[in-house]
Formats: sequence, structure tokens, C-alpha cells
Amino acid sequence: MVAGSVEREKASEKLLLDLYAPGERKTLVRGGNGGFGNQHFATPTRQAPQFAKPGEKREVIELTLELKSIADVGLVGFPNVGKSTILSVVTAARPKIANYHFTTLQPNLGIVKHGEASFVLADIPGLVEGAAEGVGLGHAFLRHVERTRMLLHVIDIAGSEGRDPLEDYDAIMKELEAYGDLSKRPMIVVANKMDLPGAEENLKRLRDKLAGTGIDIYPVSAATRQNFDALLYATARLLDTCPPAEPFIEEALGDADALAQGEPFTVEVDGGVYFVSGREMDRLIASVNFDNEESLNWFHRSLRRLGVIDALRERGAKEGDSVVIGDMEFDFID
Ligand code: GDP
Ligand code: MG
Repeated sequence: MVAGSVEREKASEKLLLDLYAPGERKTLVRGGNGGFGNQHFATPTRQAPQFAKPGEKREVIELTLELKSIADVGLVGFPNVGKSTILSVVTAARPKIANYHFTTLQPNLGIVKHGEASFVLADIPGLVEGAAEGVGLGHAFLRHVERTRMLLHVIDIAGSEGRDPLEDYDAIMKELEAYGDLSKRPMIVVANKMDLPGAEENLKRLRDKLAGTGIDIYPVSAATRQNFDALLYATARLLDTCPPAEPFIEEALGDADALAQGEPFTVEVDGGVYFVSGREMDRLIASVNFDNEESLNWFHRSLRRLGVIDALRERGAKEGDSVVIGDMEFDFID
């Protein structure tokens, strides 16, 4: 199996085993004939649920194979603060999948090379209020933050979408805090969109607010590509002081009979983002290949057939709105 993958029992979401080190092998259920053979299900970019089929007269457990990303540095922040743009400015990664407006909620990874330093940067999309309590995507993206060694907390310092950057800062910190102790992860605040009006004034307010916390603020503009040298230098320096990422603690296997039941799908709206989840959605997301055009067309038809498109429209979704299903985010296309 791939390093960084994690086995969870599907029904209980219990973490059964954690394959962390490259080349590491562990036995989960001993089978008579045939083991898991599931390496071909794992892709570096997305989660691939599958059935494990141990040998005869043995337990059958439905597992979810989660591929936890291992990145040195994670970009976190509200949608549209500029995380993807920053990733594309400092690495060769091209985060958006242009034709279909799909962006995966799995992190997009890129390698930053700065002077002598080099590190893996992950754009971790979708962090909105309530994530830690499981609103919408919840843990689906916070779990990616877990394995990063430090965070770049990106803020739209111009408040260009009518938000207050200081409130955004607090909201994200609250989410990180509520999910383990992620707020204690070494962090640099990136005040992005310095090219826009109002940015200077907000930057001053944020500096006052964070004075004495030991958290550094680096003002940048991803649009004009300004001030990234200083930010990357500081990031590499802070990263040098961070311990390596740690493996997870494994839980004992619980009752494998409890089957996940529930609604075919439900729609929740949070912060202008539409979250679709439920039994049918899990199945759908698991069977679509997002790198394949045919498969994407089929996905869109399936959403229509299941009534998801209608439900989204009823809830007020408009062309271009963000819709999140499973670990994918895409623009609503009616
Ligand atoms: P994400 O959701 O955090 O990944 O945000 P994106 O990178 O997709 O950016 C959201 C929007 O903000 C896009 O329209 C970007 O072009 C814009 N944007 C990103 N960085 C800047 C910046 O520094 N200045 C300005 N003016 N716009 C920016
Ligand atoms: Mg993005």
C-alpha cells in the first residue's frame, strides 16, 4: 500500500491501521486465500473506497482507504482568499481542472524551491466555519491539515468579499482549535490581496491584534506576485524548526456489522457553499474517475437523475456557486 494511507472501518470510521513509512506493511484481517491487493485502488490524489475480501471463513469488513497527504506546509483559509492562486505562484502546480470547474478537495500539492530550501506545499481547500463539528465536509479536509508540519494561514486582507479579515482569522483559528490542537501548529499568517484597496488599513489592524502572539504576518499579493521571497524564506526557516509529521494512533477493530444507513442525499448550505452528502453520494463519488471526461459526463448525468441538480436549484444554487460532494468541489452548472 501507499505510504500515508490509512485504513478505516467504513461503518464506524474507526482508524484501524496507519501505514506511514514508505514500504511499511501491516496485516489487518488474516485471510485464507488472497489478501487485500488494493494498491491499484489508491491514487495519489483521491480517496478510493473499496471492498476488502479476505479468505474464506474470515471476517469481511468494508473498509475505506484514505490517502492522507503528507505535505510539509498546508495552506488554510476561507474559500476565495487566494490559496490556489498562491500555490500556482510559488510552485508549478496548476490547481483548477479547467474544463469542468471541478477542483478536488484533496489537497493540491506542489514543490516549492527557494534557495537551498525545498518543501511540499499543499493547498487545502474548503475550510469553512463549522468544519470541526462536521458541518458540510467537516473532517474531510481538516484531516489533511493533520499531517502538515506547519500552516500558512491565508487571509483576504482586503476583505474583498465583504468579510472582515480579523473575523476570518478568528473563525479559522477556532476551527483548527476545535479539531485536535491544530491551532498550535507552527503558523505564518499570509495577508493576501495587498494590491486591493483597504488592505493596508486592515493589515495594520491585524498586526495590532496579533502583536505579542509570536505569529508573523507576511503581506503579499498573489495577483501581482509581490513579496513572496520574504514569505518563502520565513516559511523555510520555520519549517526547519518543526518536527517531522507523526503517524496516527491505531484503534481496535469494533463491530463490523453496523452498516452505514441514511438518506440518499442531503443538501446543506453554509457560507454560500452547497454541501451534498449521503449514502448515494458516497457511492457516486467512489465510482467516478475525475480525470476522465466520459466519467465526468456520467457523473453530471447521475446528479441530474438522482435529483441533486434540482435540489440544489431549489435551495438557491446559481451558476458558478461552489458545490461540495464528498471530497470534490465544483462550480454549479445547471
Ligand atoms: P481559494 O479558494 O482560496 O483557493 O482562492 P483562489 O486562489 O481560487 O482565488 C479566489 C479569487 O481571488 C480568484 O478570483 C483570484 O484571482 C483572486 N485572487 C487571489 N489572490 C489575489 C490577490 O492577491 N489579489 C487580487 N486582487 N485577487 C486575488
Ligand atoms: Mg482553491
